[in-house]
Amino acid sequence: MDLGIRGRTALVCAASKGLGKGCAMALAREGAELVITARGREALEATATEIQSLFKVKVRTVVGDITTPEGREAALKACPAPDILVNNAGGPPPGDFREWDRDTWVKALDGNMIAPILMVRAVIDAMIARRFGRIVNITSGAVKQPIPELGLSNGARTGLTGFIAGLSRTAVQHNVTINNLLPGPFDTERLRSNFEFNARKLGKSAAELAKLRAEANPAKRFGTIEEFGDACAYLCSAQAGFITGQNLLMDGGSYPGTF
Ligand code: NAP
Repeated sequence: MDLGIRGRTALVCAASKGLGKGCAMALAREGAELVITARGREALEATATEIQSLFKVKVRTVVGDITTPEGREAALKACPAPDILVNNAGGPPPGDFREWDRDTWVKALDGNMIAPILMVRAVIDAMIARRFGRIVNITSGAVKQPIPELGLSNGARTGLTGFIAGLSRTAVQHNVTINNLLPGPFDTERLRSNFEFNARKLGKSAAELAKLRAEANPAKRFGTIEEFGDACAYLCSAQAGFITGQNLLMDGGSYPGTF
């Protein structure tokens, strides 16, 4: 299926690795021109080169922290009017809420709630004026099924989700949609670092924990960044203009509820 986004411009935040990279690759495969961001230059440039050589599309890079005003300004200067925005950033660290002070909470809210909202604010009116816009926020399965040690993430991302639920209903009449992708366990550096944290706590090896976790998933494996990117590309497609305000859980079936 041709997703109808050839030549569209996509700003994909936090995209040198992992889920953001998966989204960037799938959008590039569909012919979108990309601006991708990350804090580390080396991996970002390597990803841009890889995408360019695979899909022959224009890929520009912006080095910066998307959770800071400077990082956002740099990204938006390079790509002031994207047709597609994928919001992403690293997640907050795990821990015990008794150890988190106000500054820790503000940092988590800044990174995983306020930063994506400010990015949406910066681009949505131009999308509305052009009568095309697709915004995808990478959140977490923890929005539906909170993970106790990831309390900062549970809190910040649920705040983002509530805000987007309201906003998305106001923009869809202009062919501008906003949806959230909720990853369960995907095989990325972030997932591996969570295993290392829990392994230290439980006195097991990270590999052992990863194996147990994969076996406990109904799919008996972790998701791949390619699977994640394909779902993102569909939500960004011309055909997906009637889908908005949704939270698509991608977790191999591990959430046990009917809805
Ligand atoms: P990852 O493999 O660690 O990749 C994160 C990517 O984002 C890297 O390219 C990183 O590059 C970039 N990045 C991180 N913080 C950034 C920032 N402040 N500004 C700009 N770029 C930034 O992580 P992932 O697994 O893809 O996770 C992506 C998001 O999904 C995270 O918020 C994570 O918590 C969430 N999530 C992941 C899973 C999973 O199973 N993987 C499950 C649930 C939720 P630099 O470090 O160079 O900036």
